[in-house]
Amino acid sequence: MRRVPVLLPYPFATALDYAVPEGLDPKPGDVVQVPLGRRDVFGVVWDGTPEAGVAETQMRSLLSSLPVPPLQPPLRRFIDWVAAYTLSPTGAVLAMTMRGYRPQALRQKPEDFFGSPDPAHPGPVLSPAQQAAAARLTEAVSGGFSVTLLDGVTGAGKTEVYLEAIAAALRRGWQALVLLPEIALSAQWLERFERRFGVAPALWHSDLSPRTRRVTWQAVAAGQAAVVVGARSALFLPLPALGLIVVDEEHEAAFKQEEGVIYHARDMAVVRARLADAPAILVSATPSLETLVNSETGRYRRVTLPFRHGGARLPEVETVDLRRTPPERGHFLSAPLLAALSKTFSAGEQALLYLNRRGYAPLTLCRRCGHRLECPNCSAWLVEHRAARLLQCHHCGHTLPLPPVCPACGAQASLTPIGPGVERITEEVAALLPAARRLIMASDTLPGPKAAAAAGRAITERAVDLVIGTQIVAKGWHFPHLTLVGVVDADLGLAGGDLRAGERTFQLLHQVAGRAGRAEAPGLVLIQTYCPEHPVMRALAAGDLDPFMRAEAAERRPGHWPPFGRLAALIISAASVETADAAAAALGRTAPSGDGITVLGPAAAPLALLRGRHRRRLLLKTERPIAPQPLIRAWLARAKVPRQARVRVDIDPTSFL
Ligand code: ADP
Ligand code: ZN
Repeated sequence: MRRVPVLLPYPFATALDYAVPEGLDPKPGDVVQVPLGRRDVFGVVWDGTPEAGVAETQMRSLLSSLPVPPLQPPLRRFIDWVAAYTLSPTGAVLAMTMRGYRPQALRQKPEDFFGSPDPAHPGPVLSPAQQAAAARLTEAVSGGFSVTLLDGVTGAGKTEVYLEAIAAALRRGWQALVLLPEIALSAQWLERFERRFGVAPALWHSDLSPRTRRVTWQAVAAGQAAVVVGARSALFLPLPALGLIVVDEEHEAAFKQEEGVIYHARDMAVVRARLADAPAILVSATPSLETLVNSETGRYRRVTLPFRHGGARLPEVETVDLRRTPPERGHFLSAPLLAALSKTFSAGEQALLYLNRRGYAPLTLCRRCGHRLECPNCSAWLVEHRAARLLQCHHCGHTLPLPPVCPACGAQASLTPIGPGVERITEEVAALLPAARRLIMASDTLPGPKAAAAAGRAITERAVDLVIGTQIVAKGWHFPHLTLVGVVDADLGLAGGDLRAGERTFQLLHQVAGRAGRAEAPGLVLIQTYCPEHPVMRALAAGDLDPFMRAEAAERRPGHWPPFGRLAALIISAASVETADAAAAALGRTAPSGDGITVLGPAAAPLALLRGRHRRRLLLKTERPIAPQPLIRAWLARAKVPRQARVRVDIDPTSFL
């Protein structure tokens, strides 16, 4: 009897064996229907020899082959690779590939969904510097696997340049995949794509309707959708003719998936490109230290656009020392920033105030007893959302109405908001500069791509004078009439023990600053800070990334911190403190040791309570040549972790909460 391994899209570590009935001739990559328990499910015929262990009498049979293009070998190797690297069940990775697939046939009408992007459609005329950059990327497209960092200042035309690389891939009949950190905020990007190629690309993200998802998946798998633009999950799509991967804003933390299979889409994009023998292009005005180091050692090529397009100058960046010019009591905007705002509005120009905090105030405190309103499920403060008249936990979503009296001491009218969120800044500007038309841009005020696109349009059409926004305003937007950017609290991201706090703060604030002065009128950026002498603030004011990143590298290298060494986190969680502690202690006792291996912890996680679960962390650090995966596999096998505790492994962690 012939048997084949079939991988099912569920968290199974390996493929299961099935018998092949007469008349079927399944090959690796074929999508097939098989029985599982009392259900019929689909799976993918996998590689390797089936295990002879299962008795023939117990073996169940394949039911049918499904009419879908088979998964190609490079994609199957990619699925295996990601599973091994992230220590995830292979079936869970396959599930990400098959997320848009349904065995039932679709009633046919795909033509009205995907046109063919036309590489010969007339695009903008590139400047000589842009042409030179585009030529190098185009050359890379025909050369098999390579990684190129495309960097250059905000507004240099990096997008226009890499669209030429996509055109080159299209001319060869290949598919191109573009990963963007936040597809919901990419309306302007999509408009530009359509201008360049005459049609919209296929989109892939979590907000697609089930029908659109199925139609898109089919078109991608059949090679009909030539360009796919998506969030990180698009990386797992079956693209049979994959010829190019672009990762835009490659430094973005949003590329890290933190749930289920925990992976970094930028890093895995490079792996997928290698396995498909296709080029990858990583794009950023503020590349991550990982990517910079790879380009310095020559593993990655580097193409740089040093100037803004069309003679637009980079904005002037100045720090506002809040020790010398503090805002008035109970206010958050300093005199220099307020003066700059009113000057901007009088000139008929637009301004942006940036504060990475949703809601009205991050903390509510009782003035009488000092009680702080905290989430019952998380070690976190409740954030006041005044417009919605409630308190909300930003970690678990728990909400409650603002209590009329202090829940601890019962005092009346004693609860006071502490610190600002975007709503509170809006209130402050409304009182001081009431004529300015205001728009809040935050994930809760702009739910979904349509709202974000409408907000973007309102700004470009000058229906708004002032934007008050969280980090969603930092990314990619091109607002030609926006000339002033004010950073309300530049120190916010520097608190806490995150390895990349400085790097991230620099990247984010530099991106925000890059929204100013993108057309003829020059831009000004005012950064409110209590420590203008901090290296991050100095680098922002000087507009110079290189010395700052060199200093970052010099700090991380001796201790073998990434990218000069490897990290893996073990996050333990349990319903009770005792179980969490027992599990943490068991892992602590059996931790790996040896030359070039360090284990930090166990320690309570900064978010020691999250969604009602108690959390402990361990961090494994190894020198670069030592892979953490085998160490962790052996570690988890020998530690006696209580069954009620859950241990998640995060390879290359970027969040340390
Ligand atoms: P970056 O991605 O480097 O920040 P963009 O690609 O967004 O820069 O370009 C900034 C703006 O300049 C965009 O509106 C873009 O359409 C425009 N632009 C860039 N290059 C050209 C060009 N060669 N011709 C016309 N417009 C261009
Ligand atoms: Zn909570």
